[in-house]
Amino acid sequence: MSNAAQAPVIPNYARFDVTFESGDGAWLYAEDGKEYLDFGAGIAVITLGHCHPQVVAAAHAQLDTLWHTSNLYWTNPMAELARALSARFGGAQTYFCNSGAESIEAGLKYARKATGKPGIVALENSFHGRTFGALSVTGQPAKHMGFTPLVPDVRFAKQNDAESLAAAAADGKVGCILIEPIQGEGGVNPTTPEFLASAAELARSEGALLFFDEVQSGTGRTGTFFAYEQLGTQPDLTALAKGLANGLPIGALLVSDTAARGFEPGDHATTFGGNPVSCAAALAVEAALTSELLAHVQMVGAHLAEGLRQIPGIRDVRGRGLMLGAELDQPALDIIGACVERGLLLTSAGTNVLRFTPPLVIEAAHVDRALTIVHEVLT
Ligand SMILES: *Cc1c(COP(=O)(O)O)cnc(C)c1O
Repeated sequence: MSNAAQAPVIPNYARFDVTFESGDGAWLYAEDGKEYLDFGAGIAVITLGHCHPQVVAAAHAQLDTLWHTSNLYWTNPMAELARALSARFGGAQTYFCNSGAESIEAGLKYARKATGKPGIVALENSFHGRTFGALSVTGQPAKHMGFTPLVPDVRFAKQNDAESLAAAAADGKVGCILIEPIQGEGGVNPTTPEFLASAAELARSEGALLFFDEVQSGTGRTGTFFAYEQLGTQPDLTALAKGLANGLPIGALLVSDTAARGFEPGDHATTFGGNPVSCAAALAVEAALTSELLAHVQMVGAHLAEGLRQIPGIRDVRGRGLMLGAELDQPALDIIGACVERGLLLTSAGTNVLRFTPPLVIEAAHVDRALTIVHEVLT
């Protein structure tokens, strides 16, 4: 065991016994000198690669100027990021927080306040985070074990099944319909445009808010800033987090300018929300997500998907852009362990799915190297 692995840390993660010291682009370097190609990117977080020069410069400049003021006052990085996100969305106000789960919590509370209705519809197999509210809307019973009772009045519907969704809202008490446009942790399962359109229609007829969890699929990961842009339905609420500040902690709840108003002063808060360093980093990420880079994501993602489809032992390849899942005919964890040994970092999604969420700046050569390693391990 490495020195770090013996630290008195609560064992809620099954960590690999690797201790990283530095990173550069798509590469991570461990303390024993080994190098790893990072196709997890910190679980879809390191959007532009490790130590991206513009993000480092933006965060540094802010770090040298001002770190924190509280939300009793304004800072310009937060205000500018709110403007940039509003422009990407086409008119939205943002609440800033520090993680994906926090952005979900904020959206659940916002929908409750705005609609006055307690019911929440979420999807089976979904993942929305580990705090009690976010866990309550996560459609994976195994993750609930040992933590019940949870937040009441959550109904789970089947993904891509409009009837199941309507049935879950049939009592007229639903104020929030929560959907990942592409389920991440649940197995990289895309929702269909038709399903999202029916969810929007249902939200309209029920007076509920349609809430998309783009914590993983957002910030350019699928080749558009929001994944929903490719699916034809715009939500009332959107959660962003993971990839937004290239690894600095941040979460954001976007509320469409056309959605019902919810929060007033005093309704919700978080001490660190809108942290100027995180917001400065996020602004650099947002600026880097040009149409050229987004087109690159689609191109290099297609190359990766195509390569994965050629590998024996891969039954299905799903997802968009650089949020891809390769379903195996065996558990993914052993395969991931063998890839780590060969210097390729991957994550799993569900039990049988290898998940690929590399930095958006990877080149075809990185993809080819990753494909070679996966091919070696699987054959
Ligand atoms: C990771 C994730 C979350 C939770 O984010 P945290 O920052 O870990 O709290 C919520 N929703 C989705 C879709 C995620 O992938």
